[in-house]
Amino acid sequence: MRCYIGLGSNLNNPLQQLNNAKEKIAELPDTILQQCSSIYQSKALTLDNEPQNDYLNAVIEIETTLTAELLLDSLQQLESEQGRIREKRWGARTIDLDILLYGNQQIRTERLVVPHNEIENRNFVLLPLFQISPELEIPGKGFFKKMLDNVSHQALEKVSEFNGKA
Ligand code: ATP
Ligand code: MG
Ligand code: MG
Repeated sequence: MRCYIGLGSNLNNPLQQLNNAKEKIAELPDTILQQCSSIYQSKALTLDNEPQNDYLNAVIEIETTLTAELLLDSLQQLESEQGRIREKRWGARTIDLDILLYGNQQIRTERLVVPHNEIENRNFVLLPLFQISPELEIPGKGFFKKMLDNVSHQALEKVSEFNGKA
């Protein structure tokens, strides 16, 4: 299954957090890392106006035979290995690993919504996705190109390639 994962970090050396997560994902069983976007910097989304560090975000493409649930388990384990502590929704984090797309499947369970619920609203997801897979279709969400037109391209800055220096 071709699958896209969104990575985000704004704590404890975000660049290193992204690189580390990417390497760990590449080492998951039955999984091959196919593509990586550049790394982008964006302003934090907050629910309470508490200031937060800027985020680094990227998207990677993998090919995996793990089920979506098993992939989520693995990603959540990597999040806790990298010291993620869930305090409040959209709070600062060392690493966030979200399943953006799982093939062209639409999944809606208690633990998992795929395509990711916010995919069409986030430029820090859409831009890196578009960079690595411009032909992509997002099941149930209409045309990719149109979504890109609808999000702001401002406040998003390409800072480096994966494994490069910021
Ligand atoms: P957002 O989902 O708005 O990006 P978040 O990534 O900060 O917020 P988390 O705290 O990482 O949210 O995850 C909360 C829950 O979201 C997880 O326990 C997980 O079960 C659920 N979830 C639902 N769909 C997905 C998905 N596609 N990828 C990752 N987690 C998901
Ligand atoms: Mg998230
Ligand atoms: Mg998450």
